[in-house]
Amino acid sequence: MDRLRATDIKYLKGIGPKRAELLGKNLGIATYRDMIYHFPTSYVDRSTIRRIAEFEGDEMPAVQLKGRFVTFTVQGEGAKTRLVGLFSDGSGTMEVVWFQRIKQLRSIYNTGTEYILFGRPSCFNGRWSMVHPEVDPPGKAVGEGGLRGVYPLTEQLRNRGFSSRTFASAASEILRAAPAIGETLPPHVIARHRLMGLREALCNIHSPSSIAQLDKARLRLKFEELFYLQLDIQRYARRRSAASVGFRFSHIGHFFNNFYTQQLPFPLTGAQKRVIREIRADMGSGRQMNRLLQGDVGSGKTLVALLTMLIALDNGYQACLMAPTEILATQHYETLRSLLAPTGVNVRLLTGSTRAPERRRIDSMLRDGTLHILIGTHAVIEDRVQFKNLGYVVIDEQHRFGVAQRARLWSKNTLAPHVLVMTATPIPRTLAMTVYGDLDVSVIDELPPGRKPIVTLLRYEDNRFATYQGIGRQLRMGRQVYIVYPLISENEKLDLRSLEEGYETIRETFRDYRVAYVHGRMKPEEKEYQMSIFASGEARILVSTTVIEVGVNVPNATTMMIENAERFGLSQLHQLRGRVGRGGEQSYCILMSRRNISGDTRKRLELMTATTDGFAIAEADMQMRGPGDIEGTQQSGIPFELHIANLASDGQIVQMARDAACEILNADPALEAPENLLLRRQLALQASRLQDWSKIS
Ligand code: ADP
Ligand code: MG
Repeated sequence: MDRLRATDIKYLKGIGPKRAELLGKNLGIATYRDMIYHFPTSYVDRSTIRRIAEFEGDEMPAVQLKGRFVTFTVQGEGAKTRLVGLFSDGSGTMEVVWFQRIKQLRSIYNTGTEYILFGRPSCFNGRWSMVHPEVDPPGKAVGEGGLRGVYPLTEQLRNRGFSSRTFASAASEILRAAPAIGETLPPHVIARHRLMGLREALCNIHSPSSIAQLDKARLRLKFEELFYLQLDIQRYARRRSAASVGFRFSHIGHFFNNFYTQQLPFPLTGAQKRVIREIRADMGSGRQMNRLLQGDVGSGKTLVALLTMLIALDNGYQACLMAPTEILATQHYETLRSLLAPTGVNVRLLTGSTRAPERRRIDSMLRDGTLHILIGTHAVIEDRVQFKNLGYVVIDEQHRFGVAQRARLWSKNTLAPHVLVMTATPIPRTLAMTVYGDLDVSVIDELPPGRKPIVTLLRYEDNRFATYQGIGRQLRMGRQVYIVYPLISENEKLDLRSLEEGYETIRETFRDYRVAYVHGRMKPEEKEYQMSIFASGEARILVSTTVIEVGVNVPNATTMMIENAERFGLSQLHQLRGRVGRGGEQSYCILMSRRNISGDTRKRLELMTATTDGFAIAEADMQMRGPGDIEGTQQSGIPFELHIANLASDGQIVQMARDAACEILNADPALEAPENLLLRRQLALQASRLQDWSKIS
């Protein structure tokens, strides 16, 4: 394999320097190894011939056709010159178009001869056509070659004559000529899990000899990818937990007890109690805590943060709570300050707009230790902010914080403080095992009592009037309403206009009520003001973009209408919906959508009306959109790219890989046994992908 890594792709027969450059530029393929690791994304059964008459829609996956060219014409001129062949398969006709090598192709292909075509048909103005298909020489029997891989290709490569066949034959050529493909998994792993050998797997992934062999090849390659990832994560986690000395918060004292017995606004839910116990045990263990707290919107994470911060105070340390936005930080501050008012705990707010005198006061109180709890935005991790003894950091809605920002917490102390990362975005299990594989996880899986589940309704534009009447009824009952518009970053101006128009319509429709208005491009003071008149109840309607997504708490708001709901991901809809249903009243979420939406979109929206279970929604979202788009991972980014495995659909293999990695590390934690030498080498080769993000905490 080392030889393959070192050999430039330009030396491959039929490639050469020019085509090599194209490959590098378009697909990042530079070496022989890159080429054999460029896998097909799907396969077409070569024994199936499709018929033009049966084409549907306006885009089709790659198909195979059998028929004859009726005519060839050269059309257009200059750069637009193209060769167009009218192809008939007896059921219908289709145009086949080439932009390159026109003369050459014109002399190779004949009318009247039977050909097998392979390509992706598309429909334009009611006519089907196919650009740069693969054309098999006459006489080649259908079914020969079994399954054919369909490779990811760019338009430029297609125009330069690259096809799926180019890749399949390049890969076969390399595999045939390579003296030895070094096995990348040790024999004991291969035997234990009955895996296909590497060479055989690579051959079958490019040119499968049967579906069964293809499945085995895929399993082997996916397993290997996930296995090394898990090995990396598990090794890291073990090393860290062995090394991570932390502050020992050994006792519960006055701050906690006093609050718990006298100030607690309501009895804790069972889940809140359990989670607090878990955190307490961690903090008392002498190891540094790194814990992820997952709890659906409204599950009461704030109170957990508060009570556990009091434990830090009881042990003589300061605590800090970070939120991703100024609005959220301010809201946390208001909540905590009023809860703590009778207790003598000193709480302050630090954000980008904190004025200089207050900043100076905060700085000095932080340094002399008289400030107990600091709440703020990322301003709290600026270098100039110095704590006397920061012992505990709570990060709310963690995905808005970049990894680098989190890492900076460290420089504030000799020992790293305990860290609790809170998120309302449920993370599907396979993703959690991978992305947060080294964090301990606590889950609040119970909502406070007395909440009525939010009723979610799917409504279409043509029901808008009736929907407004429903909203009017809520307003007359004294309730408040959110109206949310999507932001589609491609065209901010346009988005803003639809928001402004919506605002005008709402004002005209509900003339008796004051309407607040918030979007991301407003000045912070203006935003703050608009939010505050809604929070106080002066404004009864809030028209906004998704800036209100996280954390905002107005219990009297019972209705949310989400415009263009079809444009949102499920997890995001779920987050938004969590803004209502925070009081004792029945709440409603109205998903307003175009009527003309795809079946998948309709399914997504219908799922929202059917369940309020955040985990079920996150799971479904990942199944439908793939893990890369999952809220909570896209901002921070999944820190590695998977080449062949898919976290959404390969849950079982993730589990299998994790078990395999744990088993090996249990027996040989440092991978020193001779039979594990290869594992160490491979890990070193893939250069830990965890380097950056492992410091999440
Ligand atoms: P989130 O987990 O979304 O951050 P919050 O901490 O904002 O949720 O809590 C949502 C609401 O539930 C708040 O109004 C809070 O006061 C209330 N709440 C929290 N815990 C309880 C409880 N044990 N019983 C009743 N209400 C609670
Ligand atoms: Mg919250």
